[in-house]
Amino acid sequence: MSRHVVTLIPGDGIGLETSAAMQRVVAASGADIEWELAKAGAACAEECGTPLPFATIEAVKRNKVAIKGPCTTPVGTGFRSVNVALRKTLDLYVCLRPVFSIEGAGGRYNDVDLVIVRENSEDLYAGVEFEEGSQAASDLIAFCKEQDAGAIRSDSGISIKPISITATRNIVRYAFDYAVKHGRKKVTAVHKANIMKYSDGLFLREAREVAKEYEGRVAFDDKIVDAFCMNMVIDPSQFDVVVFPNLYGDIASDLAAGLVGGLGIAPGANIGEEYAVFEAVHGSAPDIAGQDKANPTAEILSAAMMLDHLGELEAARRIREAVRVVYAEGQSLTADIRWATKSDAPAVGCTEFTDALIEAMGKLA
Ligand code: NAD
Repeated sequence: MSRHVVTLIPGDGIGLETSAAMQRVVAASGADIEWELAKAGAACAEECGTPLPFATIEAVKRNKVAIKGPCTTPVGTGFRSVNVALRKTLDLYVCLRPVFSIEGAGGRYNDVDLVIVRENSEDLYAGVEFEEGSQAASDLIAFCKEQDAGAIRSDSGISIKPISITATRNIVRYAFDYAVKHGRKKVTAVHKANIMKYSDGLFLREAREVAKEYEGRVAFDDKIVDAFCMNMVIDPSQFDVVVFPNLYGDIASDLAAGLVGGLGIAPGANIGEEYAVFEAVHGSAPDIAGQDKANPTAEILSAAMMLDHLGELEAARRIREAVRVVYAEGQSLTADIRWATKSDAPAVGCTEFTDALIEAMGKLA
């Protein structure tokens, strides 16, 4: 087995607890990982004067693979999201989020097995924004009026939604290639092309073009985002690989997580041509941070995705298998899962859950 050096960014809030749990589980899986610690997030901003130090970006570039805990983003003011900055700087244009049922996790369905492929670089996350009352905002409002592009109230703040042919082709092609590689049957593109003709309309048009290259190998259909949400709630098993522009993909990720047991078990990855940063879907959960209440499963399953990426397939399989065993047994589950399963049984903390997982892994064949 070869040794891999991986950058570990614990982040803040529950990230400190879930990252420590993840490290213990990866060590027990048999994979040989050397962790190189790097800082990011709110505490780092106070300590280093920036939430995303240059040294952290350099560390990811050096090792090519990182796993990251959540980073708090102040709402409305302060710094822009560390996550968005990291994705942009490293050109991590794919956000990959597998969503699957785990017996005993309190999901509303037991047959969910889909993959969310979210465009990660543009759309309303591009960060092109104009503050209400600024000169730039009023110039833009005047420009739109001049162009007959529509009236915008003078007291508006404005966020721009760019969707490009380049990024759309890249993400849709990734979704189809993923489907081919993993034996999946269908790709669904989600959009609101009936309303936003030049952004979502372009997304749909380009998705249809790319789909032609895969005709006969992978089926294709599309759904308007509101209909997609309703269909997900009624029967998520109808979806296989689903490709989204950035914002809808973000919202759909939480919706999908909620259908299988919640954010505590939803893993993910940000992937580009050169680098990959693995991270759970959830945020820093300040309401439970530092109390040993967090469910580390999402970060642990993100680590399993990372091990797949590194070619450590057996270690990844052992982690997933142990997760399934602990949930199916139902003895040692965290509070979020007790709540999702409407169970009165006592919850365990992050540490005790991790102990149970490591013990279960030790008993696997
Ligand atoms: P959140 O995901 O942190 O929490 C939402 C709810 O889910 C909370 O009640 C929380 O306790 C619960 N929860 C989340 N993860 C859990 C876990 N592993 N175990 C048990 N319960 C869990 O979302 P939020 O409260 O909207 O955001 C908090 C902060 O995190 C914000 O600053 C936000 O910007 C940031 N955030 C960061 C990332 C990231 O770094 N990738 C992602 C999302 C949000």
